[in-house]
Amino acid sequence: MTVLSVAIRKKIYANDCCAIENLTFTAQPGEFVAIVGPSGAGKTTLLNLIAGLDTEMEGSISFHTGQERRAHPRTSFMFQEPRLLPWLTVQQNLELVLTPQQRAHPTTPVPDLLAQVGLTGCAALFPGQLSGGMQRRVALLRAFIIEPTLLLMDEPFQSLDAPTADQLRVLLQGLWQRTHPTVLFVTHSLREAISLADRILFLSGQPSRVILDLAVDLAHPRSIEDLSVQKLHESLMGQHPQLLAGQLTPSQERSTHARSTA
Ligand code: ADP
Repeated sequence: MTVLSVAIRKKIYANDCCAIENLTFTAQPGEFVAIVGPSGAGKTTLLNLIAGLDTEMEGSISFHTGQERRAHPRTSFMFQEPRLLPWLTVQQNLELVLTPQQRAHPTTPVPDLLAQVGLTGCAALFPGQLSGGMQRRVALLRAFIIEPTLLLMDEPFQSLDAPTADQLRVLLQGLWQRTHPTVLFVTHSLREAISLADRILFLSGQPSRVILDLAVDLAHPRSIEDLSVQKLHESLMGQHPQLLAGQLTPSQERSTHARSTA
């Protein structure tokens, strides 16, 4: 069981843009962590650093089991766009991320996995023959098919209509509850974050750091329409009106800082 520890002192791009400064948090094995912050805060930059797609930064990102440092865990990344290869069938898109061994001896055959996400009979179709929502289901399945221990999701349900996004969130919660990878889920929707996560990290504007680390103590699975989700949303917005703009009031900042350094 691997704990993720992030302690980024600075991430500066070649054009001198300082995207992240003093951003620190840990994520426990199997924890679902949402990351919420204003546009341009550095959320994608953070996921890229954690995935190891970008290694240029000051600080450390490490994976530990007890005192022992671990190699990079098996990681899946789901992006805003489904990113399926249009010249491959659904089945081939899924098998592409498997090892030859897994392909030859799958734990669950691909058509059965497709049935679990409501895509019975779609294995031989090409992405161009699927709706946007169906393509995201395939992308979601592809993220889980390697049984990741770390799943990075960068606004994966953005630009979908509300019912389709709802269905995908239900599927995501089902898949996560079955296999329990650690999830880092970037979103700018506070309701979506509350409906999914065990914990929400709120980021400041650029350069980003964590301004609030909030535990969401509601039973899973949840829906964005749940009264408990809406109540927490209202209460947070009442307490911190500028939270989604990446700001607490100065007195809230002081008490949050005092708590985090106590
Ligand atoms: P978010 O995902 O929160 O919208 P990003 O991580 O994409 O934010 O970007 C954070 C900041 O870093 C922005 O100011 C953006 O312009 C800048 N940035 C992102 N990628 C690059 C890059 N490759 N080169 C220079 N600046 C970048």
